[in-house]
Amino acid sequence: MDLTKTLDTSDFIEIICRVSLVMEENEEYLTDLDAAIGDADHGINMNRGFKSVVEQLKKTDPDSDVGDVLMTTGTVLMEMVGGAAGPLYGMMFTGMASAASDKKEVNNADLAAIFIEGLKAVQDIGGGTMPGDKTMVDTLYPAVQEFNKSHDTTCAGLINVLERALMAADQGLKSTIPLIAKKGRASYLGERAVGHQDPGATSAYLIIKVIYDFARGKGE
Ligand code: ADP
Ligand code: MG
Repeated sequence: MDLTKTLDTSDFIEIICRVSLVMEENEEYLTDLDAAIGDADHGINMNRGFKSVVEQLKKTDPDSDVGDVLMTTGTVLMEMVGGAAGPLYGMMFTGMASAASDKKEVNNADLAAIFIEGLKAVQDIGGGTMPGDKTMVDTLYPAVQEFNKSHDTTCAGLINVLERALMAADQGLKSTIPLIAKKGRASYLGERAVGHQDPGATSAYLIIKVIYDFARGKGE
């Protein structure tokens, strides 16, 4: 099987470890974004949450599948992270896990299913969050549409799909800047949220970027 087109259990563990490092590097940035339209804790939440996930993943059974890794990630985030981001990302990863159970290796079609379930879970727990609400869904939704499109085109490689998803995520992220928030803490600010990039949309972009960078690195 073409290595560049699949990700296995140890790849997912490595991806989550890299997400943790990126959240550490961006703790201040995410917290500053949240200071503008929230309560200045998003970077702290994400860094603390993923540090705990990494600790737990160190105990991963060698027989684990991708679903187990994603389930551990979601469960720990739900337990360890307060505020909105804990349940939101917690549900995203446990939702993703449901599409990856028993899979030791995933291709781009599997990854599409994983992202679709993750997005659905975020939208549900968020109370029907849609793009345009100025949340992480503004980043995740267009990225997932790229996976949806690629679902039928089996020749599209994992890296190509991830590259398009990352570009779509970047546009989605920037689209949050002029928006008034309809969900979360920022929604209390009305017009005052205009001109600020959403912190959760930013962390979601960072996660997608880690996955893309990892897949690209593996393919080289
Ligand atoms: P809190 O708002 O409780 O302090 P965080 O600061 O960690 O939690 O996370 C804030 C982010 O959560 C927001 O920037 C937004 O992207 C996301 N968010 C908040 N409410 C919702 C929701 N209902 N649906 C989707 N995402 C949401
Ligand atoms: Mg906050």
